Amino acid sequence: MKRILITGGAGFIGSHLCERLLNEGNEIVCLDNYFTGTKQNIIHLLDNHNFELVRHDITSPYFVEVDEIYNLACPASPVHYQYNPIKTVKTSVMGAINVLGLAKRIHAKVLQASTSEVYGDPEVHPQPEMYWGNVNPIGVRSCYDEGKRCAETLFMDYHRQNNVKIKIVRIFNTYGPRMNPDDGRVVSNFIVQALQGKDITIYGDGTQTRSFQYVDDLVEVMIRMMRTGDDFIGPVNTGNPCEFTMLELAEKVIQLTGTKSKIVFEPLPSDDPKQRKPDITLAKERLGWEPKIPLEEGLVKTIAYFKDTLK
Ligand code: NAD
Ligand code: UDP
Repeated sequence: MKRILITGGAGFIGSHLCERLLNEGNEIVCLDNYFTGTKQNIIHLLDNHNFELVRHDITSPYFVEVDEIYNLACPASPVHYQYNPIKTVKTSVMGAINVLGLAKRIHAKVLQASTSEVYGDPEVHPQPEMYWGNVNPIGVRSCYDEGKRCAETLFMDYHRQNNVKIKIVRIFNTYGPRMNPDDGRVVSNFIVQALQGKDITIYGDGTQTRSFQYVDDLVEVMIRMMRTGDDFIGPVNTGNPCEFTMLELAEKVIQLTGTKSKIVFEPLPSDDPKQRKPDITLAKERLGWEPKIPLEEGLVKTIAYFKDTLK
């Protein structure tokens, strides 16, 4: 049994991680400022005496005695991270400094939830970890992309300079139950629009691609990564390499929900990456992991969740 701090624990991915690690018998400190996460996401865990909920903003230092830290605190959807871009940079950068400072002091292992956005609008396809990326440093997505890149730098420097035990996981588009219905990301948008009989909004011509990973596959690989020895720190990609265009995704959602919603086309946001697909060779080799849940199966579960919550 370990004591584990999960920052951003009341968010979409964080809540699944809290649940899984709690069910395995660990003690969980879930820290969140509820910017995009909600108490509703972890309400079913509150009765468990091994679960502790803390309202705190990770841009300020936080002190607790734990064995491991998963650092997930950061808005992840373009709509939310662009709402207050300066705060997004602060959350990534000062949040990283605060969790790394804590990890250094208490000798905890710390895992960073990094992102495929560190590759920007990639010119190498699929993206392996050794690719340095094609990121606009001054665009509307930069607060998130550069914030996460700087966080990776800080993780590496705390490791090299202070021997902090770090792990870096680069997460590709992940979806599933407990995404915020107003999140603005494509999977939740399409499902909510389909269930409410509203137009399905494709940005651009819908030929841009993404590769979608179901949240359970992600939680598994994050835990496996945290449990590796000191000889493997990453960064390691995690995602489902099956690649779809946004048009294909919209058609799948229409088919699975049986909606009468129509597809409409809206302007493409600036710096929207044209293609994205993870090379997961490293995760397969070092973690013995590959995703198990195909898009259709994950969509069915996610649609069932939204049907229930939107009632
Ligand atoms: P989310 O928005 O549901 O979760 C983020 C959580 O962090 C929320 O609960 C939010 O309230 C909290 N938070 C934000 N700013 C905070 C602050 N200053 N202090 C404390 N808490 C704060 O998004 P998610 O999809 O669950 O993403 C979780 C993490 O995974 C993020 O770091 C994100 O960058 C990373 N990630 C997610 C994806 C994905 O596809 N879902 C892909 C790449 C990386
Ligand atoms: N997108 C879309 N309609 C929407 C929301 C998003 O066509 O209602 C597109 C968006 O332009 C992008 C892709 O879907 O090309 C994935 O967007 P998301 O915000 O989910 O993630 P990210 O761009 O960060 O990968």
